[in-house]
Amino acid sequence: MNTQETIGLFDKYVIANYGRLARVIVRGEGCYLYDADGNKILDMFPGWAVSAIGHCHPKVVEALRKQAGELLHIDNTFYSEPQGELAKLLSERAFGGKCFFCNSGAEANEAALKLARLHTREGKYKFITAEGSFHGRTFAAMTATAQPKHHEGLLPLLPGFVYVPFNDVEAMKKVFSDEVAAVMVEPIQGEGGINLGDAEYLRAIRRLCDESGALLIFDEVTTGVGRTGKWFAYQHYDVEPDILTMAKALGGGTAIGAMMATEEVAASLVPGKHATTFGGNALLCAAAVATIKAIEEEGMLENAVRLGQYTMDKLRQLKQKHSMIDSVRGVGLMIGVQLNSSGSGIVDRCLENGLRINCTQGTVLRFMPAMIATESQIDQAVEILDSVLSESE
Ligand SMILES: *Cc1c(COP(=O)(O)O)cnc(C)c1O
Repeated sequence: MNTQETIGLFDKYVIANYGRLARVIVRGEGCYLYDADGNKILDMFPGWAVSAIGHCHPKVVEALRKQAGELLHIDNTFYSEPQGELAKLLSERAFGGKCFFCNSGAEANEAALKLARLHTREGKYKFITAEGSFHGRTFAAMTATAQPKHHEGLLPLLPGFVYVPFNDVEAMKKVFSDEVAAVMVEPIQGEGGINLGDAEYLRAIRRLCDESGALLIFDEVTTGVGRTGKWFAYQHYDVEPDILTMAKALGGGTAIGAMMATEEVAASLVPGKHATTFGGNALLCAAAVATIKAIEEEGMLENAVRLGQYTMDKLRQLKQKHSMIDSVRGVGLMIGVQLNSSGSGIVDRCLENGLRINCTQGTVLRFMPAMIATESQIDQAVEILDSVLSESE
């Protein structure tokens, strides 16, 4: 099938709810994608942050092959080794909590919100979230997402959600009460434009939650599992959540999400209160175990720190040349280039030149390369962006 034939199938049979780039991808390897027309694309936004250890990492592929020959799916009526092993690896790399496994980021957040209500009870029902947040597309996760554009046409939303400006301690204090079940925030907002949480802000939320018996939920669906150069972004700050959610990078390119809660909070999730059929599936847990081991064995956290700094330095040098760049911000390999005009055309022109990046909120170019990327790949990416910006100015 050629590119036009494949796109024809989509036109006829696939719901058009995504804005798609007119490429059919047939293969991924490391930091590169290959399309059906034989083009090689340098991928600086692999799988929308899912393929954080690169496309088709050999250790993940091998683990999937091995597990697929033994047991694909087993329901949660039984125990299986990969799920137990994955929970242990995650717990040891976070705050020693217990895990619930699911299939996506939104689902991890749904589980977190339900658990917060189940655990706090007694008149506590409110959830506070931050403006510019992104928590997913299911109804509760969408309601938690404090951006009007994601609510349009979908009202009424779920009751009980309160929105406050991000990084604003005073605003948070004003809406706090004994009715609050939980605060849910991303330590670093991704879709919202790579907005870094202040340490003081996150500490203040922790204090407010502790004083009133509310829970603190960190949505680390994008930041979790190494992206920022630590296993979890909260580890850059001196603040631990009660509940942590993750998904994108966790499965090395497969669809798995997780919610982790402290042992005390986790005890409130008893049989009958929450479940998901595919959750903790043996195949995907094996992939996630292989992902975590690969990150460790190959020093990817260290690479994310080093390469993140390198990338930001390079991008900041571009700023001196291009008035279109306002600023560069990020942590590890979660990097945003703030433009002072629209960036959507830039993304298309980069792709025409063999570079895949992303643009969010209209004016923030996102660089979120795989943790296995090299300096020369970053150089190449920045060079392409440089020439595209020159053309557009
Ligand atoms: C992507 C994302 C989600 C939603 O994850 P899905 O797997 O698309 O449901 C939730 N929270 C954050 C911070 C995300 O980046």
